[in-house]
Amino acid sequence: MEKIVVASGKGGVGKSMLASSLALLFSKNKKIVACDCDVDAPNLGLWLGVTDYDERKKISTSEKARVVDQKSLDDEVLEVCRFGAIKKVNGKYTINPLLCEGCGTCKILYPEAIEIKPVRNGELRVKWTKYGFPLVSGQLFPGETGSGKIVEQLRKKAEEFEYDIMILDSAAGIGCPVIASIRGCDYVVLVTEPTPSGFSDLKRILEVITHFNLPYGVVINKWDINPHFSDRIRKWAGDKFLGEISYDKKVIDSIVNLNPVIFSDSKAVDEIKKVYEILRERA
Ligand code: SF4
Repeated sequence: MEKIVVASGKGGVGKSMLASSLALLFSKNKKIVACDCDVDAPNLGLWLGVTDYDERKKISTSEKARVVDQKSLDDEVLEVCRFGAIKKVNGKYTINPLLCEGCGTCKILYPEAIEIKPVRNGELRVKWTKYGFPLVSGQLFPGETGSGKIVEQLRKKAEEFEYDIMILDSAAGIGCPVIASIRGCDYVVLVTEPTPSGFSDLKRILEVITHFNLPYGVVINKWDINPHFSDRIRKWAGDKFLGEISYDKKVIDSIVNLNPVIFSDSKAVDEIKKVYEILRERA
């Protein structure tokens, strides 16, 4: 069993497009499970033509504080919360649930006055796709925290399926959900675009990948929007360079029509297949 995670420091560079394509290509010969770890903005399903799910379950991976006894509090509590969640309004102490991180500090100092309770902060979704493999996805609810822990839950769910290769679509950036996505994976496909911000964010996520000592390769998406910059990234990547994918409006048409890119006549298809072939040989 192998876990391949598709990641990028920057958002919007084509991670989900490539992850969905790799899942479909690998599924021709291997048992696949696809896991959308971008719980803030999940869209792997759309790239696979999925609009509804067989299973939806609300989950709880975070906690919030609330005041249960006003009399046990004093004004010093207003200094306790480093997230500024505790306020006094019209003589009453209140905790803003949108600011509370559930750290529990206020509860330690005022055990009688404050209660910490789990909150349903997200949803776990499963779909058996028409392409013959399961997709596990999730969504962090607006204003909630705990995305990294939701990713943990999704990965646990994905492990329930029998698979040869798990394809994980990571969130952008280098934060909690990204770390939860790449931890324990066998290989990282880093996607970037030929822009200064794309390149800068690629280097940032590489620091995380290096910390976990994971093997990786680099793909430049939309390489032809700036061939000169692509050349720079290609040289920088050296033997880690996996391939490049052209910009093509037909790729956008694919997601608009919920038709996976690899079934389109986009010029990007052959380039994606080349990346897949390299990954297949090393899998
Ligand atoms: S649990 Fe932590 S974050 Fe929430 S109100 Fe108390 S101190 Fe602030």
